Amino acid sequence: MYRFRSLLLAISTFPSICAGATDTDQLRQNIGVSEVKYINVVREIAKPTALAPIRVKNGVKFMSLATNSTGEVVVQNAVIGFDHGGSFQPAPGTAVVVHVHNSEMSPKPDPADYAALREYELPCFIISSDGENIWEIAIIDGMNKFRAIQSSGIGEWVDFK
Ligand SMILES: [Zn+2]
Repeated sequence: MYRFRSLLLAISTFPSICAGATDTDQLRQNIGVSEVKYINVVREIAKPTALAPIRVKNGVKFMSLATNSTGEVVVQNAVIGFDHGGSFQPAPGTAVVVHVHNSEMSPKPDPADYAALREYELPCFIISSDGENIWEIAIIDGMNKFRAIQSSGIGEWVDFK
């Protein structure tokens, strides 16, 4: 929905694009706002994924989600890494990236998560190591933002500090 609004905004500001700013500049204003269907899947998989045992101590789980040809949201690829995102590359076709912090990391989004977001240019979700908390991070109008994703609802976008 937000993307759709961004598109309308881009269309409505077309004269200003012609006046100097490139369309790329306009599109880069907003990075990483997901669709609700992905939020719903992230809610379902957050806890089982966070609690799934892994072989290596303090591994950091990453997966990417995509929509397949029949419209189902599927895991596109997944790895166990050791940091916030440098070792993970989403497979082609990825729609969103999901990342579980280990128990030694702050459960909340980290500046490094925004660096990964800028690299991927895809919606990114951060899940705490116990699977109890989910955040979506995004860059909106050039500002780092995050919102809480709860079973009861989706929080407002707030500034990342
Ligand atoms: Zn992270």
